[in-house]
Amino acid sequence: MSYVKSLVIVGGGTAGWMTAASLAQHFRGTNLSISLIESPEIDTVGVGEATTPTIRNFYKSLGMNDEQVLTATNGTCKLGIKFDGWLNESSSFIHPFGSFGQDLKNVNFIHYWLKAKSLGSQTKFDEYSLGCMLAHNNKFSQPIPNPQSSLAVFDWALHLDAKLFANHLKEYAIERDVKHHSDTIEHVGLKKDSGYIDSLTLASGKTITADFFIDCSGFRSVLIGKALGVPYIDWSELLLCDSAYFAPSASTKPTPPYTQVTARTAGWQWRIPLQHRTGNGYVYSSKFIDDETAKTELLANLEDVMDEPKFIRFTPGRREKSWYKNCVAIGLSSGFLEPLESTSIALIETAIERVKQLFPTNGFDPYIIDEYNEVSALEYERVRDFIILHYKLNQRKDSEFWSKCRAMDIPDTLDKKINLYKHRGYFLRYRWEMFHPASWQAIYSGFNLYPKSYDLSVDSLPNDYLTTSLNAMKESVTNFVTNAKDHDDFLRTYKRDKT
Ligand SMILES: Cc1cc2nc3c(=O)[nH]c(=O)nc-3n(C[C@H](O)[C@H](O)[C@H](O)COP(=O)(O)OP(=O)(O)OC[C@H]3O[C@@H](n4cnc5c(N)ncnc54)[C@H](O)[C@@H]3O)c2cc1C
Repeated sequence: MSYVKSLVIVGGGTAGWMTAASLAQHFRGTNLSISLIESPEIDTVGVGEATTPTIRNFYKSLGMNDEQVLTATNGTCKLGIKFDGWLNESSSFIHPFGSFGQDLKNVNFIHYWLKAKSLGSQTKFDEYSLGCMLAHNNKFSQPIPNPQSSLAVFDWALHLDAKLFANHLKEYAIERDVKHHSDTIEHVGLKKDSGYIDSLTLASGKTITADFFIDCSGFRSVLIGKALGVPYIDWSELLLCDSAYFAPSASTKPTPPYTQVTARTAGWQWRIPLQHRTGNGYVYSSKFIDDETAKTELLANLEDVMDEPKFIRFTPGRREKSWYKNCVAIGLSSGFLEPLESTSIALIETAIERVKQLFPTNGFDPYIIDEYNEVSALEYERVRDFIILHYKLNQRKDSEFWSKCRAMDIPDTLDKKINLYKHRGYFLRYRWEMFHPASWQAIYSGFNLYPKSYDLSVDSLPNDYLTTSLNAMKESVTNFVTNAKDHDDFLRTYKRDKT
């Protein structure tokens, strides 16, 4: 018999309904009662439309397949992120969900590529990445299951309509007995002795009690922030962007199989292609551009805008503790890092998994709470470092914002990583990192940062053998891309039946 018999989720945005659907599925057939309260007056953020490949594992664990989710969310396929203008005004590179070339003798492919370059090879690094080359050519294919060669390793995520995704999960959760309350919390009652959350008083006059609460109330952070007073750690000294304007525009063809992020005067602009529209937004630092000018800059870079831009101000950072007393925060209430690498939904997924694994079946033991908080903090810090990397390596000369980003102090954890890579081509991997070495490599090479020299062992390969092997790799990538479908052709088979 579990200590926790009732659980209340506060918030019906992406975080709330993902949590409700996943916990309803996981605890189906037990006595745990799950309820979700969402306010009919307070809207969800409604952005959050680019994901990472782990989203596919998330919905597969609920029994949904790619076709169902692409159809339900008017989604498109995402092979990676295209960074335009980040290194300098004319640069462009892709961060794919996949690897580059083939490693040999436990030595990273970058070392073989560097040696080939020293011998006169002109082949660009990304020509050895299937994910990059499919994306560059607007092609899409499902990856080969269990490929023989790492050259064939790539993965994909989705661009999806956030509201449609939340609705899809809502239906799923309600079918699995999640009790839904459309109501606004007006008061949070705490137990006198322990300070634990006891009850929620709703605008309708109802009172809801539970043993365990999950705060998915977004930036308002109704439970963990407001009621329990857990402080927020502010990272705005490390990540300067604190605002966004966003607006949908008409969809255009061909549909790119990637998210596009373009550097602008004081930040960057996203472009997320869906089947029925394109999501756009300008994430910027209000210290370097005023809101009105930022809005004008966004609109100047859009065509066929479908709605007035919406505005949001945010503080990059994380909650000091994501689990406090009998409350766990998931989603924006637990922290926020700008959406450059589409990590917020991925962080929701890992938080849900952790809640399942550390579920307080035997009560609120400090060991499980500490473990939860330690992992959450590290996950956020690792993602933060990866995002800072994109700013630190820029060489743009056009604005104060970019000069400041280049000159900024960075966390020691990141500094150590960059130096080990620069000096020895070594990929330092910390615990709880979301991004694999291949992702770090994609950003380093996109910013023209390469190790000082290649690994000595590479010299043991005869030069002809190296050249022939690299040519064969490139040819294999080219052949795969030639035979793949156009992204739009692929999507046509998934189109929602509107008749
Ligand atoms: C500009 C921007 C772009 C983003 N882009 C991406 C992206 O591309 N990829 C990605 O992964 N993530 C992205 N994100 C993050 C993503 O939007 C969020 O992680 C995701 O939407 C989850 O939000 P949420 O559910 O935590 O909060 P919200 O969507 O804000 O939902 C909060 C819920 O709480 C309810 N609520 C609040 N107060 C009360 C109350 N008193 N009583 C009852 N209910 C209440 C509201 O009604 C609502 O249902 C982006 C975020 C921003 C700001």
